[in-house]
Amino acid sequence: MDNRINLTGIVLSVMPVGDYDRRVTILTKEKGKIAAFARGARRPGNSLLAVSQPCVFGNFTLFPGRDSFTISEVKVEEYFSEIREDLDSVYYAMYFCEVADFYTKEGNDEREMMKLLYASLKALVKGQMSKRLIRSVFEIRTSVLNGEGPMLNECVLCHEKIQEDKRLFSVANGGAVCDRCKAKLPASDLRSLNPSSWYALWFIGNTPITKLFSFTVSKEVEDELSALSADYLFSRVKHKFKGDKLLEIIGG
Ligand SMILES: [Zn+2]
Repeated sequence: MDNRINLTGIVLSVMPVGDYDRRVTILTKEKGKIAAFARGARRPGNSLLAVSQPCVFGNFTLFPGRDSFTISEVKVEEYFSEIREDLDSVYYAMYFCEVADFYTKEGNDEREMMKLLYASLKALVKGQMSKRLIRSVFEIRTSVLNGEGPMLNECVLCHEKIQEDKRLFSVANGGAVCDRCKAKLPASDLRSLNPSSWYALWFIGNTPITKLFSFTVSKEVEDELSALSADYLFSRVKHKFKGDKLLEIIGG
């Protein structure tokens, strides 16, 4: 009897296994993050060769096994092949996949994270927004999806409603700090942000994901967001991503 199942997902990572196989991590709409084997995927001419690559998005037909799945066939909707043609885009995409992998689990509802990853990869391909800004949006929204988004309208320390023109941003404490509380924190943890950066942070946290990659900001605001978003994400998870090191090398 055919017990195959169909899942919609994006390949996050690929590892060689044995002589000819690959182990593939897929972020799926239906089952969260799963592991699947692509048997024979490293043999030339094998039908799974092209589809078991990072960023491939489509419908995966799988045989369920005891601890993982085996890929039977894949109907690809998007290869994101443009990303593989540009090394900078490859680094960004790898980083996005690594972060998504870190944050997701099997059996969880990860649809929002999947949508965010998909939209971020789409934005890389479109090239309308700078890669740096795409990264900031991805990082901030990832924190928001995980319930760790920055607090913007009240003070993170006293929880009073904040006076907008006097607020400062504390990465370590996760958001706005009021004029009275700022003395309690080291100056090195307090950033003064452009009003447009505050608005951008709000927008990134509250706009539907499909409309997230459609705004522009000044160079100054992009610099501020860029300096803030990676620190913000890392200070929440206390984890250094490999992809971040690669992006440092290319100045992303
Ligand atoms: Zn306060």
